[in-house]
Amino acid sequence: MLKHGKMDKFKINFDKEACIGCIACASVCDNWIMDENKAKPKKTTISEKELKSNKKAESICPVNAIKIKEV
Ligand code: SF4
Repeated sequence: MLKHGKMDKFKINFDKEACIGCIACASVCDNWIMDENKAKPKKTTISEKELKSNKKAESICPVNAIKIKEV
């Protein structure tokens, strides 16, 4: 039994409270959009293919609001 599709292997935890709306994540990764003055992930479960750019978003975030975990 698979909880997610085969390709979806990583889960994004986003701390919206911590987000200061700097837009850095959205500038490096298509999965991140701005909603009012906060960032928002389009998807919170991502595939290995999507990992690279989301990892960039994770590392560029100045307040560490983005954490990616393998599931
Ligand atoms: S990089 Fe971090 S602080 Fe900046 S908009 Fe994205 S989640 Fe928010």
